[in-house]
Amino acid sequence: MTAGVYLHIPFCKSRCSYCDFATDVYRESGAVERYVAALCREIRQFLPQNDADDANLTGGVDLRDQRSSAAVSLLTVDTIYFGGGTPSLLSAIQVEAILQAVREQFEVVSDAEITLEMNPATVTPESLAGYLDAGVNRASFGVQTFNDRDLKLLARGHDANDARNTFKMLRGAGFSNISFDLIIGLPGQTLDDWQRNLDEALKLDPEHLSLYILEIHEATPLAEQVRSGRRPVPDEEIAAEMYEHLLDRIPTTSFEQYEISNFAKPGLASRHNTKYWRLDPVFGFGVSAHSFDGMSRYWNVRDTQEYVSAVEADKTPIAGRDILTDEKLAGERAFLGMRLTDGISVNDYERATGIDLKAKYAGELERLADAGLIELASDRLKLTRRGMLFSNEVFAVFA
Ligand code: SF4
Repeated sequence: MTAGVYLHIPFCKSRCSYCDFATDVYRESGAVERYVAALCREIRQFLPQNDADDANLTGGVDLRDQRSSAAVSLLTVDTIYFGGGTPSLLSAIQVEAILQAVREQFEVVSDAEITLEMNPATVTPESLAGYLDAGVNRASFGVQTFNDRDLKLLARGHDANDARNTFKMLRGAGFSNISFDLIIGLPGQTLDDWQRNLDEALKLDPEHLSLYILEIHEATPLAEQVRSGRRPVPDEEIAAEMYEHLLDRIPTTSFEQYEISNFAKPGLASRHNTKYWRLDPVFGFGVSAHSFDGMSRYWNVRDTQEYVSAVEADKTPIAGRDILTDEKLAGERAFLGMRLTDGISVNDYERATGIDLKAKYAGELERLADAGLIELASDRLKLTRRGMLFSNEVFAVFA
């Protein structure tokens, strides 16, 4: 089984009003260089054979103990994903240096999917050419919306024209695999607004669409604006209508839905994100990055300074770890797999977990099928269209 690598780049031009990710405002200073050096160092500490020779860990926990021995047999990597933050604030030279560190520590297959998240107005033709030269072959483009009023509300720091121009620049540079992130459920956003957004997104003709429903997190400026009544509370029913509108439109396009919120041209589903739904191993590096090694999940500290200081001092940046019981893993295999439109194979599931789903959950599956939320056709258990709207009700059975 091949693994994925996730690389977290925690810098943004400014902070969006709804954001609660681990991200810092980008400043032209040594902070980014120092972070990139720490990231490369953390990646290089990954290999057990390197650790064995170079284990001058001065405190904290030895990485060799933290990394599962499963890593030894999972060194082939076929997806690399730069997420953030805004990875497109890195120079091409920095991206190349990080990829070089990954290539030294993992066997990266020649046709690996290498994605870099990019935000409008953060790239130039030169930086894009440099990313391509470094091996990046997929852009995850943070459009969010083409509505300038909503972009202001979200404090995105760019307008719709920036998105259009950057998209043209991406195509001009030679990016042939571009995904749009689009957001629905904004305060005051109407179904008409969303239809216009979608029209424009489809007209630009990217290869992939990822849909997000706005979540309002405590302690963000947007949460405060909604609490104080300066913005309306987002309407969940309208958000559901927006989602259904998208599902209605997809069959009239060249996209296929392959996951609850993800749509792609044939053959261009995100290989990296599919790893999360299939429970394949993904090793994360950088501040707040999460990893799954097949048996446990572990995650790095959330504070950039703390992360950099720990790595520079040869201490582990890992902040916590959950060793998953067989029961928990089996539950995750069911509800993550069911996010995919072709669901899960009941027979494959039994081979992987020893659990006969039809027998163990007979009563629940019957109830969910009667409610029109799931269907079980021969070997495949999957969500119906209605089940995609109420997926949490289905997933609660396996959680
Ligand atoms: S660009 Fe993304 S990570 Fe950066 S502040 Fe905005 S939402 Fe957060």
